[in-house]
Amino acid sequence: MRNTTLNIDNMHWILQILQNIEVGLVVFDRDYNVEVWNGFMENHSGISSGVAKNKNLFSLLPTLPKSWFEYKTDSVLKLGIQAHCNWQQEPHSLCFENTRPFTARSEFMFQNITLFPLFSANKTIERVCALIYDVSEEANSLLQLQSISRTDALTQLLNRGYWQELFEQEFARSQRYDDNAAVILVDIDNFKTVNDTYGHQVGDKAIQFIAELIQKNQRETDTCGRYGGEEFVITLPKATTEDARLVAERLRQQVDDNPLTVNMDGQQQQIDLTVSVGVAAIKSSMDSADDWLKQADSALYQAKEQGRNRVVVADS
Ligand code: GH3
Ligand code: MG
Ligand code: MG
Repeated sequence: MRNTTLNIDNMHWILQILQNIEVGLVVFDRDYNVEVWNGFMENHSGISSGVAKNKNLFSLLPTLPKSWFEYKTDSVLKLGIQAHCNWQQEPHSLCFENTRPFTARSEFMFQNITLFPLFSANKTIERVCALIYDVSEEANSLLQLQSISRTDALTQLLNRGYWQELFEQEFARSQRYDDNAAVILVDIDNFKTVNDTYGHQVGDKAIQFIAELIQKNQRETDTCGRYGGEEFVITLPKATTEDARLVAERLRQQVDDNPLTVNMDGQQQQIDLTVSVGVAAIKSSMDSADDWLKQADSALYQAKEQGRNRVVVADS
């Protein structure tokens, strides 16, 4: 007769499997006291199962966000259902260091966690089992793809689409909190002449050169993007008109002071570049992010009209 039911004799190899699988396995009771802590948990936390046993889960894993984890566990205990915690909600809830130095692009492991109830013989739920999956590789690939799709290939600034998305968020945020904010629009002067005189490749170098100057001046909260061919945009959260004018003027001056040096036919060639800049502060009367950007665009147009290589602030 075939006997497939589990008995005490074959428990030992089931325990070996649980000990050795490349998934974290933790069992804890209603008070979050740990009863099972497998090999994966030992390896990544540095805490042996002997030490972990009967200890409070949150004292063993101090980085685990307590109220979030309790909320998830609560639904498992009350409803007797599974709960899933995705790395995108809590990227490194256990803060295990990444132990795959060759493939790892991040310092910490990304984890998905599944919680499910363990029923006692009398059908009550006294324990919860947590499975912890290392999803670092897929998380890093996704983050890399996301970063590629948001970046302009020539300049490494944000591309227009993603910059616009952040700009719209900034518009909504600043209007809601009645905060200052400003936008700066930069356009290289007589760029067609650069292309016509030195060729398209040198034109590209000029675009990269201006982008680098913009990036060097960038504060942490600013978002800089390539808006089009030789046009750039900078959002400055919390900046007043005067703050933004100073940033714009400093950039204009730097471009004016620093020629682009290129190697042409073995000769170092210096190319003088200038930019025109339009600045617009946000106003409570504006209905949309589009209104805001249009103001900067007309300021830029005026800067061109007035002879280029200058900064014009909207409404001043
Ligand atoms: P203005 O001072 O009025 O801005 O004059 P401009 O010559 O710069 O005029 P405009 O802004 O209309 O010209 C932009 C030119 O930039 C036209 C286009 O051929 C060129 N361009 C657009 N994208 C690229 C690019 O990626 N690389 C290069 N090399 N040139 C580009
Ligand atoms: Mg242009
Ligand atoms: Mg131009």
